[in-house]
Amino acid sequence: MSKRVFTSQAELLWYSIPANARERILKNVFCTKCKGSEMVDYNGSEKNGDLVLEGSCAKCGHQVVRVVETSEAKPPNN
Ligand SMILES: [Zn+2]
Repeated sequence: MSKRVFTSQAELLWYSIPANARERILKNVFCTKCKGSEMVDYNGSEKNGDLVLEGSCAKCGHQVVRVVETSEAKPPNN
């Protein structure tokens, strides 16, 4: 069963991130058991202007958390 609950503020932050960057974030989470892993069934919330993703490790189901700093999400200036 897949659940994905975002607060409205978190959703704004999340969808301001380019799709390829969102994919990279989800596929580079740190699971304490598997080390590098992928996040599934994630929820999003906003904390101090940053986006906090909480979900499960795709490999073992252990809880993983990824904080996406808004500065990280912005496209580079050129
Ligand atoms: Zn894991």
